[in-house]
Amino acid sequence: MSLLSVDRLSTHYVGAAGTVRAVDGVSLEIAEGETVALVGESGCGKSTLGKSLVRLVDPSSGNVTFKGRDVTAMAGRELQSVRRSIQMIFQDPFASLNPRHTIRSILTAPLAVHGIGERKQRDAIAAKMVAHVGLPADSLDRYPHEFSGGQRQRIGIARALILQPELVICDEPVSALDLSIQAQILNLLVEMKTERSLSYLFISHDLSVVRYFADRVLVMYLGRIVESAPTSELWTGAKHPYTRALLAAVPDPSRRKKAAPITGDLPSPHNPPSGCRFHTRCPLATDICRAEDPAFRQFGSGHAAACHHAQ
Ligand code: ADP
Ligand code: MG
Repeated sequence: MSLLSVDRLSTHYVGAAGTVRAVDGVSLEIAEGETVALVGESGCGKSTLGKSLVRLVDPSSGNVTFKGRDVTAMAGRELQSVRRSIQMIFQDPFASLNPRHTIRSILTAPLAVHGIGERKQRDAIAAKMVAHVGLPADSLDRYPHEFSGGQRQRIGIARALILQPELVICDEPVSALDLSIQAQILNLLVEMKTERSLSYLFISHDLSVVRYFADRVLVMYLGRIVESAPTSELWTGAKHPYTRALLAAVPDPSRRKKAAPITGDLPSPHNPPSGCRFHTRCPLATDICRAEDPAFRQFGSGHAAACHHAQ
């Protein structure tokens, strides 16, 4: 059974300048223990999708089901309990860590909110968590600004894991870090996953980051999922021209034949192109692409793409 199931989810931002169709009819599944990557250019709707899953923004239509319960219909206590099970890690841990709070208070706050333990027990849980994510033992009484970028992301991870969630949505968790630090944080996430039997939705604009990490990759373009495939298969047999263009931008000496990297800007999500949303930038586009929205088609087990010309 799926841990998380998303059915035709749309999240639109309505403002003075019109409606931004940030997420526009997305369906996906995450199985227990699975790491699913969500990739696509900046602005395609990845963060909005991630936040919609935990109702940090409210979807406009569609459903999110976590362990058989409809998250989109939840309120109050029930929503709070599901938020304990689904945690988020953000790109910029500094922006999400209150500068006036010590690490102790940052880590024990979620425990207090959920009524876990007495103060002493909460302190002990926080101390254990600090050690677990590889922070110095004296971290608890220090403030976020006293830590490096990589250490702050360790604090973000500790805070996300302290409630023992089942699913963690990682929104570009290493994008702001130096390359050498990126590897350390990715390793930590892999370790945590194995130890705690977590599932991840791992959001990244960078395909090279997900290659050795994800079981399956979802490729998003302008509010839609355009391809879904097991990671290794995506690398060797991508079907969608957008996926191929993204892959062409990743340096890889083992790939001989290269597609042309993507050119042009992402069209406005205020007014997405007719038919296939990618047709304005697609080297294969023909009349049908301008007229008809392509259906998601299966290309073997667990591999699907939405393209009129995919074979
Ligand atoms: P990504 O994470 O892939 O970069 P986002 O989900 O942040 O994409 O953004 C998707 C689209 O929604 C973009 O056009 C962005 O400008 C717009 N957007 C994001 N957040 C808001 C908001 N709070 N209000 C209005 N528009 C937003
Ligand atoms: Mg984002």
